[in-house]
Amino acid sequence: MLRFAPSPTGDMHIGNLRVAIFNYIVSKQLNEDLIIRIEDTDLERNIEGKDKEILEILGLFSIEYKSLFYQSANLKYHQKMALQLMTQKKAFACFCSDDKLDELREEAKKEGKPFRYDGFCENLSDETVLNTNAPFTVRIKKPEHNIKFTDLLKGDFDYAPFDIDSFIILRQDKTPTYNYACAVDDMLMDISVVIRGEDHVSNTPKQIHVRNSLGYEKEIKYVHLPIILNAQTGKKMSKRDDASSVKWLIEQGFLPSAIANYLVLMGNKTPTEIFTLEEAIEWFKIENVSKSSAKFDIDKLRFINRKHIELLDEMRLSKILGFADADIGKLGKIFLEEASTIKEIKEKIEPIFTPKNSCEGFEEEFSKLKECLQKAPFFEDYEELKKYVMEQTGLKGKNLFKPLRYILTGVDNGPNISDIYPLVKNYLGEIIK
Ligand code: GLU
Repeated sequence: MLRFAPSPTGDMHIGNLRVAIFNYIVSKQLNEDLIIRIEDTDLERNIEGKDKEILEILGLFSIEYKSLFYQSANLKYHQKMALQLMTQKKAFACFCSDDKLDELREEAKKEGKPFRYDGFCENLSDETVLNTNAPFTVRIKKPEHNIKFTDLLKGDFDYAPFDIDSFIILRQDKTPTYNYACAVDDMLMDISVVIRGEDHVSNTPKQIHVRNSLGYEKEIKYVHLPIILNAQTGKKMSKRDDASSVKWLIEQGFLPSAIANYLVLMGNKTPTEIFTLEEAIEWFKIENVSKSSAKFDIDKLRFINRKHIELLDEMRLSKILGFADADIGKLGKIFLEEASTIKEIKEKIEPIFTPKNSCEGFEEEFSKLKECLQKAPFFEDYEELKKYVMEQTGLKGKNLFKPLRYILTGVDNGPNISDIYPLVKNYLGEIIK
């Protein structure tokens, strides 16, 4: 079983989507199920509606999953297992106040050391615990030995007990902390491979320690994916980069198939540059993904998006553009010469259908032509239409072509009118209004 475990705390980041896609591909390759676990136990950071948004995005990318869980629904297991650990003296109640912990943190900072819990409450007697009338957290005792694991991309890791520390597993309100809930859930859900971002590497030994303490022996395989850098700035793609938000990319008119293609292509060796996720399942090898940070280059994504738009069936493209006519799909593809996204193609098509009142510098010619075109019979062919208006208006050269292009397309330049005309000829009534 594999899982994608997003936190509903903000817009879905392309790094998260990459994680979801890799989990999806690997689950298909291993013939194992994929589940979605919404990690909603950090109530203060949850944002209403973000869970639905994440699921909608997974739908847009055709990432199918077997079932959906909310981590908060497992609270009773998190608490029960914490009690088990306390009974076995593998965890303890910690009454240290936030102020005291802040002091310890300050001291450590002054000494240039990393902050670690000082173990004050670790050996309190049961009587003392019972008689202490104060809020408490539950901490797991740090391990006695080093925790080692192998990451499929990054190789071997070895963490000393000091690095793992006696960390909090239940907060004062008895809700679980991230590492604890995640470790317990991966165990309860029988996860075999965890694929996630490299920001979680240092969490992994803590999660392994929780499961070891609970007596769980199954070894989970780990893959931590490198962070994504903005190719233009060389810095981490942060929330401040618009393009880091999947929602933003979709709103800009990047096709999900193109975004998915790029996220698999990035920092990877692939047999072809343009492919679908279904094709990638045939040849993808997670161990071939580059260990170093992937560079997100929006210009490359624009190129891939154009290729995916080209591959779309014309009727399908037309529907995405808000029409139901294969000719408009063809028209959209003509605009790929100068547009790379659905939004940009729409911006090219819109002026064609926008009423035009005049053409700067050619006001008289414009009126004459418009009147002529409104009365003209229907012509299949642009050459015939051209001949007709020339004869009727006596206009020629620039005086004909400038206003004619403007009336038919709403702009001064662009692809050949003879290419555009056959695709919009059935809308002339609307166009020349
Ligand atoms: N909820 C975590 C996140 O969104 C992921 C945890 C995990 O995959 O283990 O970063």
